[in-house]
Amino acid sequence: MSEKIELNKNKIKLENEGTSKEDFDILMLKLNKPIGELKQIEENKFESKNENLNLEVSYGKGPEDLFFHDTEEISKFSKEKQHLLEVMRLEPQKYKTLENFVLKNKNSEINFKKIIYNNSEFFAKVPPEPAKSNGEGGGNYEHETNSVVFRGDLSTPIGIIIALHEIGHSNDELSKVKLKEFPTSTRSLDDHKYLTKEQIDIYFRSERNAWAFAIKQIKPFIKDLGLTLDDLKTISHKWALKNHSDFAEEMLNGEPYL
Ligand SMILES: [Zn+2]
Repeated sequence: MSEKIELNKNKIKLENEGTSKEDFDILMLKLNKPIGELKQIEENKFESKNENLNLEVSYGKGPEDLFFHDTEEISKFSKEKQHLLEVMRLEPQKYKTLENFVLKNKNSEINFKKIIYNNSEFFAKVPPEPAKSNGEGGGNYEHETNSVVFRGDLSTPIGIIIALHEIGHSNDELSKVKLKEFPTSTRSLDDHKYLTKEQIDIYFRSERNAWAFAIKQIKPFIKDLGLTLDDLKTISHKWALKNHSDFAEEMLNGEPYL
């Protein structure tokens, strides 16, 4: 995947249609319903089944290179690792490397190992964070370290969809290459960082690309997950990309990125 990145010189195509709170809440109930009961079959291995789906999840070690005893040690880490720690909210001990994630139905299979970009790490919070009613709180793709930090529940449709979205970022040239040119975060709140119009375009298109990837992957499973194509459209376009659109619009109107 190293095709040339063509930048869109035209107007940024944002989403303008959102969803009502009621419709979103109803959809979230469906999306947060676990596939089945997640059973522990070995120390770090879990399985979940229903009539049509078979899910296998296993974890490896924690990100031991990020562990620290004293907050003073943090400043000795590289900038990239400090950023990763920040995304883990300074709790690396609550994460494990995702060793295996395989979801199967009669005709299809999603295997995270096969679809995540070469050498990318996937750190999952174990146990996951409880789902938030606003749908937020899934994960991040960190382009600096080429890793996914994931807090959601991989036994629910929303958890799987968001994980696929982050994996989509790992495969997206804009996310991997162009976002590296963006200003990086600092803890100082007064130190605002702004994006150029071209960068806002890149930011938004990287989100679109990651959603397109997630939708393509999950499509063969929607019936078994009790979802419809319309549900996927709502979650990707009317919710996630609409939120990114609103942020992009604010930035176009002079709001800072960080
Ligand atoms: Zn994203």
